[in-house]
Amino acid sequence: MRFAIFSDIHANLEALEAVLADARENKCTDFVCLGDVVGYNANPHECVARVREMDCPIVKGNHDEQASLVESSRDFNEMAEAAIQWTRDHLSDADKEWLRALKLQRQVRDFTIVHATLDTPEQWGYVFNNLDAAASFTYQHTTVCFFGHTHVPMAFVRDDGVQRQRIDKLRIDPSKKYFINTGSVGQPRDSDWRAAYCIYHIEGAVVEQRRVKYDLATAQKKIIDAGLPRLLAERLAIGR
Ligand code: ZN
Repeated sequence: MRFAIFSDIHANLEALEAVLADARENKCTDFVCLGDVVGYNANPHECVARVREMDCPIVKGNHDEQASLVESSRDFNEMAEAAIQWTRDHLSDADKEWLRALKLQRQVRDFTIVHATLDTPEQWGYVFNNLDAAASFTYQHTTVCFFGHTHVPMAFVRDDGVQRQRIDKLRIDPSKKYFINTGSVGQPRDSDWRAAYCIYHIEGAVVEQRRVKYDLATAQKKIIDAGLPRLLAERLAIGR
């Protein structure tokens, strides 16, 4: 059994299709989405439709939440807010209903999935350091939990203390706990423009980081043609 675990698509259809093709080539049998299907980029409806038809386990992200509200709750910066208002206008009522109904946290087989944190998932905090990760570990009852939200792939490992490490090909030791950020499909922020996701090889107990090139120029052109902030197109090229 091989899971493709992907997060933070952010309405980037070109990146999503490239990731799904790579997952199929790598013989993934199952798919899991960690939220933020929409926001920032130009294909929110198409990405919702694509993920919906996959009918895979999924949790809600903060952009999914904001896009499904009638009005914003002032949590977003100016650029994210401009994009989320545009997104609301480009989603159907059925899309919004589906986004609204997503759960904050789920268990899939023997692992957990959440968008932001396990300690207060509805507050959308960011896990960037060992202290943030330690708070989530307190509420983690499975060996492995996958999360998103920061758009920066990294693994936190709890043994005696908490350590941060690169994923690459991470072997899962059942005597430890792992809080793993798969990185972002549609708006990476670790200075690498390629779409990020992870493959979880269940039998081999290995989590593998994947990076996938996609049709960046088309994704950028759609953002500009849609009248979304130009910076949203520019940041994709530098992975920021
Ligand atoms: Zn996000």
